[in-house]
Amino acid sequence: MRKYLIVGNWKMNATHLETIQMVQKLSYRLDVSDHQRVEVVVCPPFTALRSAQTVIEADHLQIMLGAQNVDWHESGAFTGEISPEMVAKLSVRFVIVGHSERRGLFGETDDVVNKKLTAVLAAGMTPILCVGETELERDSDTAGEIVGRQVREGIAGVEPDTVASIVVAYEPVWAIGTGRTASADDAGSMCTFVREQVREVSGDAADAVRVLYGGSVNPGNVAGLMAKKDIDGGLVGGASLDPDTFASVIRYWM
Ligand code: PEP
Repeated sequence: MRKYLIVGNWKMNATHLETIQMVQKLSYRLDVSDHQRVEVVVCPPFTALRSAQTVIEADHLQIMLGAQNVDWHESGAFTGEISPEMVAKLSVRFVIVGHSERRGLFGETDDVVNKKLTAVLAAGMTPILCVGETELERDSDTAGEIVGRQVREGIAGVEPDTVASIVVAYEPVWAIGTGRTASADDAGSMCTFVREQVREVSGDAADAVRVLYGGSVNPGNVAGLMAKKDIDGGLVGGASLDPDTFASVIRYWM
């Protein structure tokens, strides 16, 4: 049984003070039954992780913490970078790797993404491996080729038992931050395809992997997406910044 997982990616938004308020407000809007159905993760910027950890632990909140990125080295002369251990020590449980903004704006290759995913696992956290095609790739019918390669190379070299614990987020680049969502049918079949790609590399571990959809998820479209058999949750950007809206996404079945 795969438990639903909804992850808020706040990107470069929210100071540490705003983060405290956002985490508290979100927690007020969720109840025990929400947490029984759905695991809820927020990924604030690095500078707010410590404050978020403090409020989550002090108030015994069930919201979990994620980081948006890490470097793959353990330590050393990498000015401006953050190691997996540094975030793990802040009770961070999940780390987004290979988000399309990191691939597109910061030149992250599949090899870099694979190193990050491996380093996140080694530090005892769960990677959320992001994959997805651009509009150009979609229009030239290469979405399957691109996404398949990103999945296979992302998890290359990882033991199948370990692969079972990871999360993959299918996020078509043309749907991120644009208000354009893949139809539930298209998103569902791409998430099925993602699972089959995992199966090619890691066998039956694929059945345990949680596959999320991301790309302009909002309270109006979330239920249709979550109804698809291979969609196990969502990676949510813009709609996760407002606690009311994010809570409505999390309570998608109501
Ligand atoms: C994202 O940043 O991963 C994302 C899906 O953003 P949005 O929901 O704003 O499209």
